[in-house]
Amino acid sequence: MAQIFAYVAHKAGKADDSALELTVAAKKIDPNASVTAIVVGSDAVCNEVAASYNEVWKIGTDAYPNAEVIRKALVNILPKESIVLISHDTFGMDLSPGLSVKLDSAFVADAMDFEGIEDGKLKVIRQEYAGMVTTHVSCDIANGAVVNVRPGAFQPDESTGAGGSVVDKTGDAGDLSETTRRFLEVVEAEVGDVDITKSDILISVGRGIEDQDNLEIINDLAKAVGGDVSCSRPIVDAKWLEKARQVGTSGQTVKPKVYMALGISGSFQHMGGIKGNPFLVAVNKNAKAPIFQVADVGVVADILEFVPELTEKVSEMK
Ligand SMILES: Cc1cc2nc3c(=O)[nH]c(=O)nc-3n(C[C@H](O)[C@H](O)[C@H](O)COP(=O)(O)OP(=O)(O)OC[C@H]3O[C@@H](n4cnc5c(N)ncnc54)[C@H](O)[C@@H]3O)c2cc1C
Repeated sequence: MAQIFAYVAHKAGKADDSALELTVAAKKIDPNASVTAIVVGSDAVCNEVAASYNEVWKIGTDAYPNAEVIRKALVNILPKESIVLISHDTFGMDLSPGLSVKLDSAFVADAMDFEGIEDGKLKVIRQEYAGMVTTHVSCDIANGAVVNVRPGAFQPDESTGAGGSVVDKTGDAGDLSETTRRFLEVVEAEVGDVDITKSDILISVGRGIEDQDNLEIINDLAKAVGGDVSCSRPIVDAKWLEKARQVGTSGQTVKPKVYMALGISGSFQHMGGIKGNPFLVAVNKNAKAPIFQVADVGVVADILEFVPELTEKVSEMK
């Protein structure tokens, strides 16, 4: 049976949320698997995730987060035929395809779910065409596989069962000093007049709003429910709202209790910014919009008609 590894990303000394999602993904591949976390450049994160993994492999380097260096280290330490799970975020997308080439292993991007291993094939579920089609991929793992797992696709396992030890693999990682890329600094995203990362209720608007003037109905609803307005990227690209309100992989990561997606299709880049499993309400005039696959409540309606009505009802109830 192939060994399963999870690459644990981190920021400011804290493990990324994906650390507790990848253990669940690994158990979906093989419920009996012993899962090893790989942590580069942080002792604190090694200790933080040790309770959730059977073992933690630590690589000490100050080159974090340089994908070129990390790829080199992983090629040197990973046993043949490993299955390596990496979050499908910007850094994971940088690291993973090249890693699979170097390992001569299979590569699957943006996995949503797994159906285990059958006859030497890893069964992966993905989405195509912006989520309109679900595909079942059968992946030959004779040489192992590198799999990018969509953030949020698995509910994090908060239980701390495994309790693994930390093993220092720095010596096996090879010479990591020679690189063509250099990590300079982390530049934090700008924070606007509202910090949507702190909001409990987000009223999020997408391209379905059609016109900047229509944003007024979104502001009215946000005011009525005591929430803040956030948006998808096309709204920022059109300069209708400031970048600090964009949710997604190239925007803010938010953790509200309630997330209302109005005229948003549900691209993985947008959904990747929504963490903490909020109560998700989606309103979209297309019944086949991908967001309905993950929404707790879905309303097939024109937001230009539905939102003012909802605001009125909320105001009445208050
Ligand atoms: C590298 C990269 C990074 C990205 N980062 C982000 C990111 O951080 N955040 C992000 O959001 N996107 C990001 N994107 C863009 C992403 O791929 C999608 O294009 C974007 O999320 C789509 O936004 P949307 O859902 O508002 O628009 P669309 O996909 O166009 O969807 C609009 C939806 O509105 C519905 N609709 C239309 N009119 C109405 C109406 N009157 N009433 C109700 N529903 C209606 C339609 O049915 C449709 O489902 C990124 C893309 C790339 C390549």
